[in-house]
Amino acid sequence: MITVPEADYCPVCGTELGDKEVEGRKRLFCSSCDQVIWRNPKPAAGVLLQKDSGEILLVKRGNWPNIGTWSIPAGFIEQDERPVKAAARELGEETSLEVDTDDLELVGDLMVQHPDGKYVIVITFSTDISSIKGELSAGDDAQEARFWNLEDIQSSEEELESEALESFLQENSRD
Ligand SMILES: [Zn+2]
Repeated sequence: MITVPEADYCPVCGTELGDKEVEGRKRLFCSSCDQVIWRNPKPAAGVLLQKDSGEILLVKRGNWPNIGTWSIPAGFIEQDERPVKAAARELGEETSLEVDTDDLELVGDLMVQHPDGKYVIVITFSTDISSIKGELSAGDDAQEARFWNLEDIQSSEEELESEALESFLQENSRD
């Protein structure tokens, strides 16, 4: 597995970083620049598409990180892109399904930790199946795309972003 090492050197001056307690956490600190190296999660956007029967759409990731893991269709937000646009774009790229951004409703934030230890926030939107156009087929960044029922998600031996998915589904169940 590819892992990206933690940055040990200041991105500004190249000085080896130390630790410093700042705002209640131990953080990387450059004593030469006198600055804290802040670590923040990276924002992504995704679509939780659930049928009336409760089945939800998952894609098998085709790209690093987490190749082969099933997750909701999602991807990183471009620097000048609104999250809702990114969510619709990623749905299209990964599943060939189309949705108008007006039909996407913000439902929450899903936290995922990648193998390199970094955190990604998936700003998640839901939509009604009746707002979806197109034929389901796995696109560029996905190996497979299909609907799963909840028991299959819980009992599957496939790699699932299951912890985050399950807690999200519990909080956002339609019942
Ligand atoms: Zn520095």
